[in-house]
Amino acid sequence: MASVEERDPRWERLDRTRMNFCIQCGRCTSACPLATEIDYSPRQKVNEERLLEGENMDEWGASVWTCLACYNCNETCEQGVHAASVVRMVRQRLFEMGLAPEGINKVAAEFSRSGMAFPVTGFTRKMRKEMDLGNVPTTAADPKAMEEVRILLKRARYPPLLEEGGED
Ligand code: SF4
Ligand code: SF4
Repeated sequence: MASVEERDPRWERLDRTRMNFCIQCGRCTSACPLATEIDYSPRQKVNEERLLEGENMDEWGASVWTCLACYNCNETCEQGVHAASVVRMVRQRLFEMGLAPEGINKVAAEFSRSGMAFPVTGFTRKMRKEMDLGNVPTTAADPKAMEEVRILLKRARYPPLLEEGGED
């Protein structure tokens, strides 16, 4: 069977060589604020090689989306292994495979449309008015800002932008 890298060169961006230095000490899991709540601890993420295979991607479950991206796991590792990078890569892969949770897709669609993660509601406007914060900045009116939004979403592997081809 072809390796993960042969089937999807983007996996090469993960420093897989460093992953081979994992000594299973568990320091990353001890440092993870979600270790008791998630399906796979940072240590398991690094070492469950089979979960990096395309046909097993749906086994990651919700835990990969609950990662806070706090990078405690990266910082505590004395071997220089990047468990958080595994999470990021897996998220990108799930996203493009259409396996992201509905809420994530909704946030991405709103971000793509307005440049904001959440829609501005009447309640938001009311609260801003009460706090003298003025109108919400209109990202969508700034072509340069929206181009940056597009690049971010494309790098995150947002499916509607993948047909454009190439990498930004
Ligand atoms: S801290 Fe580093 S070496 Fe230790 S289990 Fe985690 S990834 Fe492996
Ligand atoms: S980046 Fe994610 S996996 Fe790593 S310690 Fe933080 S919450 Fe846990």
